Amino acid sequence: MTDTNAPVLQLVDLVKHFGIGPGAVRAVDGVSLTVSAGEVLGLVGESGSGKTTLGRCVVRLVPVTSGQVLMRGVDIASLSRRRLRGLRRDFNIVFQDPSSSLNPRMTVADIVCEPLRLHRIGNAAARRARLAELLDQVGLRAEVGRRYPHELSGGQRQRVSLARALSAGPALLVADEPTSALDVSVQASVLNLIARLQSELGFACLFITHDLASVEFLAQRIAVMYLGKLVEVADRAELFATPRHPYTQALLSAAPIPDPPVQRRRRRIVLSGDVPSPVRPPSGCRFHTRCPVAEPRCVTDEPLLRPVGPTGSLVACHLVTDTGHGPRLADPALAP
Ligand code: SF4
Repeated sequence: MTDTNAPVLQLVDLVKHFGIGPGAVRAVDGVSLTVSAGEVLGLVGESGSGKTTLGRCVVRLVPVTSGQVLMRGVDIASLSRRRLRGLRRDFNIVFQDPSSSLNPRMTVADIVCEPLRLHRIGNAAARRARLAELLDQVGLRAEVGRRYPHELSGGQRQRVSLARALSAGPALLVADEPTSALDVSVQASVLNLIARLQSELGFACLFITHDLASVEFLAQRIAVMYLGKLVEVADRAELFATPRHPYTQALLSAAPIPDPPVQRRRRRIVLSGDVPSPVRPPSGCRFHTRCPVAEPRCVTDEPLLRPVGPTGSLVACHLVTDTGHGPRLADPALAP
């Protein structure tokens, strides 16, 4: 029985390892976070950070190794397939590449209405009416319903994916890099569409991306992930104004600012090396092998994700004090 007062999504110490023993890939390693009703939480990190795996655990496309995925208080990670079926209409996912996520043998009408049929929502006439409404909401003409995915552009296909994901009225949408496979010219229009639909329909959204500009545009809160763990969670404005974790500071320094004079004065913080292997992550703080301000204790002691500063943002770094003060890497655009 779902609890309507509980958060739409709550992850409790979520772990996902692929394989077992010393060779296991530790893709997600103890992540706890909450997404409230109507909230957009941006999840950012480099490739290999585990953010896509986390999104797939949330919608149970992959089984979790341990921990809980609470959807309105019900742990869907441990539900039987039969009981999960009843809850599936409450959440859905939009993938990065609409070309491979849409069935090429089905018409757009069948694709969009499939969740309605699976969940036995409405009769044939009601589904036709819902199809027309959904196509209109995502900015497609009604006649697109008769076409097949290969007859559409990339942007149109992603609009179809969105219509399908939203057809059963989910409380949570997981959007996994929904614009990164699209031409730059249509990325903005799809982002604008997601923002408009989210504000009109009020669903919660876990927006997974490596693109900081899109989370700045869409998300109210941002969680930063590095090598299977969260390193910082903060309100959007606070994170962009005062990034506290050294990794967050490095990520932001690499994102272009649409202000040429400021952009010219900035110095990018270049991290040494690549993201280490998630098979054998570094001891202590996982970021210590690339952190420009690492100390000896960072090699041995793992920093906990804990509340800091006046707003209670969460940061996992030994050098950030409880008042929120900490290392400021040299980047003029980030200086207070
Ligand atoms: Fe860098 Fe140490 Fe903070 Fe990790 S705990 S981010 S290594 S200073």
